[in-house]
Amino acid sequence: MTENNKKNETENDSPQEKTPSHFIRHIIDGDNQSGKFGGRVHTRFPPEPNGYLHIGHAKSICLNFGLANDLNGTCNLRFDDTNPAKEETAYVSAIQKDVRWLGFDWGENLHYASDYFEQLYEFAVQLIKKEKAYVDDLSPDEIREYRGTLSEPGKNSPHRQRSVEENLDLFARMRSGEFDEGSRCLRAKIDMASGNLNLRDPVMYRISKKEHHRTGSAWSIYPMYDFAHGLCDSIEGITHSLCTLEFEDHRVLYDWFLEQLGVFRSQQIEFARLNLNHTVLSKRKLLTLVQEGHVNGWDDPRLPTISGLRRRGYTPESIRDFCNRIGVAKSEGVVDVALLEHCIREDLNKKALRVMAVLKPLKVVLTNYPEGQVEQLSAENNPEDLSAGTRNLPFSRVLYIEQEDFMEDPPKKFFRLGPGREVRLKHAYIIKCESVVKDPNTGEVTELHCSYDPETKSGSAQEGRKVKGTLHWVSAEHAVTARVRLYDRLFLKENPSDEKESSDFTSGLNPDSINELIDCKVEPSLADATAGTHYQFMRLGYFCPDKDTKSGTPVFNRTVTLRDAWAKISQKN
Ligand code: ATP
Ligand code: MG
Repeated sequence: MTENNKKNETENDSPQEKTPSHFIRHIIDGDNQSGKFGGRVHTRFPPEPNGYLHIGHAKSICLNFGLANDLNGTCNLRFDDTNPAKEETAYVSAIQKDVRWLGFDWGENLHYASDYFEQLYEFAVQLIKKEKAYVDDLSPDEIREYRGTLSEPGKNSPHRQRSVEENLDLFARMRSGEFDEGSRCLRAKIDMASGNLNLRDPVMYRISKKEHHRTGSAWSIYPMYDFAHGLCDSIEGITHSLCTLEFEDHRVLYDWFLEQLGVFRSQQIEFARLNLNHTVLSKRKLLTLVQEGHVNGWDDPRLPTISGLRRRGYTPESIRDFCNRIGVAKSEGVVDVALLEHCIREDLNKKALRVMAVLKPLKVVLTNYPEGQVEQLSAENNPEDLSAGTRNLPFSRVLYIEQEDFMEDPPKKFFRLGPGREVRLKHAYIIKCESVVKDPNTGEVTELHCSYDPETKSGSAQEGRKVKGTLHWVSAEHAVTARVRLYDRLFLKENPSDEKESSDFTSGLNPDSINELIDCKVEPSLADATAGTHYQFMRLGYFCPDKDTKSGTPVFNRTVTLRDAWAKISQKN
């Protein structure tokens, strides 16, 4: 086995590829030409540390870091940690690991919104002094009532006309923890009749007595996203603040805060979020799946989380390739998961070592092969990459083949094994099925007795003798017993998120999304397969060792089958 095919789990392969052009790239190119930001390109990826990253975040990561890489700019990693109720340090580390694994490096540019809490507080005080913000005593429910609807204007709060002094005093006391959660908040004073509901005096600060994972109990008030986000962008000198479409209606508010405070004006640009069929891409829903035990943790290989995809055997290159192919647009759509699978197949076809593994073993005894004899056959590791070299495969009298590769009464087109039929064993010989041994009680086929033709060794002069089928196999005496996990779609429903908020999206889960086979037989070279190595089990798909592997009993995940549904779909179109 070649060393250069082994890749450590945390090793990062920085992207060599250029990202494709799209409307955001055009906007930035235009800004660079007009000198809007002095030719500077500074983006940021702003995850909230309230869950693990998923493939949708990968789209945003590739976009933000990709633009900075391509345009000689900078991309910050900024934790948007303004809601202590849902955020944890464990998520912060997991997010950093995932971004790095995807191949991106924020260098010195790691930031936290919580680093700016003092400055954000000062900005709020400035707005109070300008009579652009006020402390409101309405309860959250009353605020909702007063807000009005799309067709009806809102009503001013009775506290809207408080004096600057009173507001400053109350806001300071909110900070010092004097008031209960929900009893007061700070609101921007904009326009309760605005056609855009986001401008109807949005809340800037709410009281929360929760411990913050970084600032502890220093604060009793926390800034809201709409207030904090643009100002964090401004503080960091972000030129282009890229976010998903649902923030389009918030952009006026983003601009309003920056304008009122007279600070650096970052530019918000919205793009369509990634949706993928047969899965969910919402941290809230992913958290539900994890907490309710529908999956085994955030890195369950069935999840679309980065850690799940990594454990499943996806490579950073394949995910970046996927993100480049889906592009960046202004309109929402649903991407077929078959495209993601196509990307990993393309990558693994180049990298994966070809090996033999039998998932459901059927014993084959070669009656004319000398007992006790073992031959070491030479097998190439990867026909797509000859530098991957060859390995030895032991061949002996008792072998295993796949149960599915034998039929007692096969139809004509079945080119595998049947009574009296011949097949080639990959890298070995042609064998012929002479007789079938059955369990006398159940009638189940338990063993095949075959003869082998010593004149047909692979690579020898007589190899040329043709038979229709070639099977994979392992030598029984040398095989290693392994567990193999086969996966199917996590959701049977194509769009499980289509459900109304009230209904339970978990009803669309596929009850057979995992199938673990516990008595598989794999070739001896897989005995100490390590995480990060990718294999093609011949005829069965691409596989990788799982972290549940214990010494002596490897566990493998099937990353993807060999059959490429995407190639078929794109041919049809
Ligand atoms: P979710 O909706 O899954 O809870 P989020 O938007 O609340 O995600 P954040 O941590 O705030 O999660 O996201 C960080 C960044 O990733 C944001 O800029 C967000 O726009 C982007 N992002 C999140 N989901 C997607 C997606 N499906 N496609 C593209 N970008 C996304
Ligand atoms: Mg968000």
